[in-house]
Amino acid sequence: MNRRDMLKYSMLSIAAATTLNASEGSTSVQSQTVGASGVSSAKKGPKIVIIGGGWGGLTVAKNLKKKDKNFDVLVIEKNNMFMSCPFSNTYLGKLEGVNLGTFIHDYNKAVLSNGYSMLNATVTGIDRGKKVVHTSSGDVPYDVLVLAPGIDYNYEGQFPNWSKEKIAEIKNLAPAALIPGSEHIALERMLADMDDGDVVITKPAGKYRCPPAPFERACMIAAYMKKEGINGKVIILNENDKIAKGKAFKEAWKELYGDKIVHLENCKITDVDTKNKTIHFEQTIKPKDEMDDPKVIKKSHKYEVLNLIPHNKANSVVEMAGIETTKDGFGKVVMNGCSFQTKTDPNIYAVGDVVGHAIPPSGQTAIWAGKQCAEEIAHKLHGKSYTLPVKNQTVKAGNVCYSMVGDKPEEGIMVTHDFSWTGEIIKAKGNVPKGPNGKFRSAKIAKATRNWYDGAMRDLF
Ligand SMILES: Cc1cc2nc3c(=O)[nH]c(=O)nc-3n(C[C@H](O)[C@H](O)[C@H](O)COP(=O)(O)OP(=O)(O)OC[C@H]3O[C@@H](n4cnc5c(N)ncnc54)[C@H](O)[C@@H]3O)c2cc1C
Repeated sequence: MNRRDMLKYSMLSIAAATTLNASEGSTSVQSQTVGASGVSSAKKGPKIVIIGGGWGGLTVAKNLKKKDKNFDVLVIEKNNMFMSCPFSNTYLGKLEGVNLGTFIHDYNKAVLSNGYSMLNATVTGIDRGKKVVHTSSGDVPYDVLVLAPGIDYNYEGQFPNWSKEKIAEIKNLAPAALIPGSEHIALERMLADMDDGDVVITKPAGKYRCPPAPFERACMIAAYMKKEGINGKVIILNENDKIAKGKAFKEAWKELYGDKIVHLENCKITDVDTKNKTIHFEQTIKPKDEMDDPKVIKKSHKYEVLNLIPHNKANSVVEMAGIETTKDGFGKVVMNGCSFQTKTDPNIYAVGDVVGHAIPPSGQTAIWAGKQCAEEIAHKLHGKSYTLPVKNQTVKAGNVCYSMVGDKPEEGIMVTHDFSWTGEIIKAKGNVPKGPNGKFRSAKIAKATRNWYDGAMRDLF
């Protein structure tokens, strides 16, 4: 986003806020939002409010306006600019032509191109009875509500003995960089400023955003350290033994980075000493003989840069809605069968990483789900029934997720997921293909990674 765009967007936000303050005694922001046609968009058709201007939310908004331009579509987003998590690891790897501008996009552009409205505010509550969303800028009524708020970190659940101050310190000094915002930039600065030494990445157990992301990040940081001649290793402390695209990553680690990337399984983080830059953990070694007990070894490791990725949970907006969620540590939205409507409330839908389907939490899935969700809502508002246009209850490659693993030459790996509707929820089956040379990674996939990302940004903006 250039300076002019930043100014444009803040002017619109200020104008919206001003209109809000001018509304006599009322805190409602109905019909007073930043619209494509200017500051105020008068209410036309049914009002669809989308919480979250990320991959899922922007897709729903765009596709609803495509379906019916009379829909009054409003996105509520707390950040004043879009930052992409997908492809952001290449920024840490300092790949050619990649810079901050690659990830930051102008919401104003999306609003102007796609015809929906946007409110730059933080959602603080949802009153399902009154069909109203409470925000930092006032109340917003809705006819249909879409939850697309993404994830939150769960430091409190993972480290119950840490104080609020300690958590704040860890967020600053060991940024997780899994949520759009400044953490990605902070992590990049730490790597740019680092001396010789190790980079430690922790990979959480349980459901978390983009399962391959920590492993791709390890590759990109190792590539950067190699390029810059930084002596040290990238240590992945994995809370369990699961590695998304495991065989493909292991092939790349071994063949491209030798012993520069070290992956340690079953490591439970116990503490971090930020003063001495040391992480403490317990590693469980499984016995060869099943009859023996596992061994738990206490370990410590000194780091130069720490990327502590904590347990993930559904964004607190889901809890605000008071709808049924899964009983696991993440708290996914329980869906109404194989649809994007919630089970609890027919007027509330969900897309993106919070959905309760067994599909991967990825940007590409969020785009796919966002399109399906828009179809469903449009049919409902037009009084029609909707069935998914699928062949044999399967969608081929509903999700394609790339990971960049090498630089100079750039090489990537990929996974595709077919989605199916044969059960109570939508399910996915993954496949990590090998190329004709018998390797998982290739320059062709690296090129496809860049093309995919550029295409997705063109689609959203
Ligand atoms: C490092 C990394 C690499 C990745 N690589 C890939 C990849 O290669 N391919 C891929 O497909 N996916 C990838 N992903 C995953 C992808 O980023 C997510 O799956 C996707 O962003 C999910 O979309 P979403 O709409 O659910 O959430 P988000 O895109 O996070 O959007 C949620 C939005 O809601 C807003 N919000 C939250 N709370 C509030 C509130 N209270 N009030 C107002 N607004 C709020 C947030 O600010 C945010 O903008 C990657 C993720 C990471 C971290």
